[in-house]
Amino acid sequence: MTVARSLSSLNGATQVLGIIGHPVEHSLSPPMQNAALAALGINGVYVPFPVQPDKVETAIAGLWVLGVHGFNVTIPHKQAVMSHLATVTDIGQAVGAVNTVWRTESGWAGTNTDVTGFMAPLQEENQDWSQSRLVILGNGGAARAVVAGGVTLGCTDLWVVGRSRAKLEKFVASWQDSPLQPQLQIALISELDALLVETTLLVNTTPVGMHPDVTASPVTAQQLDLLPQGAIAYDLIYTPSPTQFLKLAGDRGLRTIDGVEMLVQQGAAALEIWTHHQPPVNTMRQALKAQLEQS
Ligand code: NAP
Repeated sequence: MTVARSLSSLNGATQVLGIIGHPVEHSLSPPMQNAALAALGINGVYVPFPVQPDKVETAIAGLWVLGVHGFNVTIPHKQAVMSHLATVTDIGQAVGAVNTVWRTESGWAGTNTDVTGFMAPLQEENQDWSQSRLVILGNGGAARAVVAGGVTLGCTDLWVVGRSRAKLEKFVASWQDSPLQPQLQIALISELDALLVETTLLVNTTPVGMHPDVTASPVTAQQLDLLPQGAIAYDLIYTPSPTQFLKLAGDRGLRTIDGVEMLVQQGAAALEIWTHHQPPVNTMRQALKAQLEQS
């Protein structure tokens, strides 16, 4: 059960965690992380920190001086924060974005737990990913975390599908110096059908189908019919849950994974980095779903 920490339990020893972003008031992380801290019995609190784009360096220097224990980073600071950290993990560097920062003796360290969050539900599938085709719809920021997750899972047949060949080529080129060295293939949306017949995992990283345009889907029912039996449809969108894409996939007997799970798992991975405790994932999932129902 979710137990909310009451303000009267905060004291001089309370550890402060938080999230920097702009805007940050609609972030779902504070209710999820505060429920987790309470469930673990940790004397901590997680708060939103609105930070203007030109104030990232000052803000994180301030968080350091104030003894803040760690923080998440959201839009638009995920790339900008990197140059102000003492260290960034290989995964953070490969993705080119950091969403979780913690204290070390040499200063702030950062990584990207979206990658862990993306992979977590797939790791339960007990599948040999080296034999699996991963098709990613979209070539934006979230697609980078999916590429890194796919490579880490062992996928070698990796496709990125978009609506502009120039942007797709730029996306591939951006991995040239990455420690992950993904072998990416690209296709236009108009070429998708031919890929689907051998696709094990189809991931939507575009905003198509996101609230308020909830009847839209990045692929048609007919395209989903092309997928082999046992294929997985994964949507990074978490409002609504499920999306039209996942409804259509579920109607066809495909396995489905929604963006809520990725959001929960990226938060759980961050909490583990900060607290070294096993995250109370069920509590976090419940808190997040309750928050989504209210919004
Ligand atoms: P982004 O950087 O703006 O990238 C969006 C991508 O979608 C771009 O490649 C864009 O194509 C493509 N796209 C946009 N509209 C399209 C359309 N109508 N048809 C086809 N392609 C279209 O955004 P992002 O940060 O990657 O986020 C994408 C989605 O992932 C959002 O819905 C976000 O909420 C979700 N997300 C979820 C989680 C989670 O934890 N569940 C984490 C991160 C992101 P062009 O390049 O051609 O413009």
